[in-house]
Amino acid sequence: MMEKIKMTTPLVEMDGDEMTRVLWKMIKDELILPYVDLKTEYYDLGLPERERTKDAVTHAAAEANKKYKVAVKCATITPNAQRVTEYNLTEMWKSPNGTIRAALDGTVFRAPILIDCVKPSVRTWKKPITIARHAYGDVYKNTEFRVPGAGKAEIVFTDADGKETRQTIFDFKDAGVIQGMHNKDSSIRSFAHACFQFALSTKQDLWFSTKDTISKTYDHTFKDIFAEVYESDYKAAFEEAGITYFYTLIDDAVARVIRSEGGFIWACKNYDGDVMSDMVSTAFGSLAMMTSVLVSPDGCYEYEAAHGTVTRHYYRYLKGEETSTNPIATIFAWSGALRKRGELDGIDALMTYADALEAACIETLESGIMTKDLVSLAEGIETKAVNSAEFLRAIRENLDKKLA
Ligand code: NAP
Ligand code: MG
Repeated sequence: MMEKIKMTTPLVEMDGDEMTRVLWKMIKDELILPYVDLKTEYYDLGLPERERTKDAVTHAAAEANKKYKVAVKCATITPNAQRVTEYNLTEMWKSPNGTIRAALDGTVFRAPILIDCVKPSVRTWKKPITIARHAYGDVYKNTEFRVPGAGKAEIVFTDADGKETRQTIFDFKDAGVIQGMHNKDSSIRSFAHACFQFALSTKQDLWFSTKDTISKTYDHTFKDIFAEVYESDYKAAFEEAGITYFYTLIDDAVARVIRSEGGFIWACKNYDGDVMSDMVSTAFGSLAMMTSVLVSPDGCYEYEAAHGTVTRHYYRYLKGEETSTNPIATIFAWSGALRKRGELDGIDALMTYADALEAACIETLESGIMTKDLVSLAEGIETKAVNSAEFLRAIRENLDKKLA
């Protein structure tokens, strides 16, 4: 039995709900605790504990993330009306992801995990494409209404001294719709910093796209702020790392992405990121193979799976049925967080272990042992569908071989 890897700084551990909470414990028991002398500061973000603490636990977890820099998070339920009844909630608590993102002023980066036997729908893609979505403002914080009939629509800004700036949007002859939206330089700047930092941290090129030719002030502001932040803070570091920052129009970006081999980060405005991340993740194969990292402009990281709590599987699990839920994205959240912890604390063994854990996952999948969701996607190999526990055991066997 090898000696367990020692940690110096705790990882912020955010537990969650339903099937992913079940997997969380299995992953720790099978793949982490036997190898790492795990040091975590534990926060239970499961819905019952959020209810009991009036959601204070979520805010405390976000503060801990700021303090220790690195967190790993399990998927959590975002309450809706049905969950309020199911969990007897006194309030429809906000999405923990939204709360943590706001506290860290962070940007979410989503990237697929690729395996040889699951081919992306786009034939040229050989490496992951990471999407960074600006998660503030634009159409998601808009004001809009229906115009009932003829009249003039104007946009008015009143400054702190009461001075008005006014422009006509449209002279309506008949009914229609209008919409007002905004963004903030400070939020765009944070987004830019998070993107440049993440590109450096993963040594990948960064692409950014907007529609600045049409939106000559709004979108152009995004382009200008990115250029400014790059020139002043990142240009030298990018050149040294041998990576590039590349700006292009959103429609040109779409064409280039499809023709590319992948292997870069694509930063998108809020709406573009919403739409493009669903398209890119679907084209890569499976939501269960999609990782997600929240990065703050001052270098805090929160790792998680992109998928939710897999409710349908959980109800089957509660009935005592076996489930074949894919734990890969959650395992990669742990390996990502442990690797980052190792990097920040200078613990090589932790980084080596994280690499080995990921390699063991990939090898297991490429040997054909996989959960049911992947069986239908796999091509060119003989597959064996296993349940979650069997799958984790197979990964552990491969991991033991690597670490021996
Ligand atoms: P979901 O949990 O991602 O699951 C949707 C479906 O995708 C599942 O029913 C399953 O399909 C498949 N799937 C997702 N992950 C899988 C995995 N690891 N292994 C195998 N199959 C997987 O989304 P949802 O059902 O819409 O949401 C459930 C709860 O999660 C909601 O309460 C929502 O608020 C929450 N949520 C949380 C986060 C987060 O914390 N980051 C993100 C999204 C959603 P089959 O049933 O066909 O097998
Ligand atoms: Mg979407």
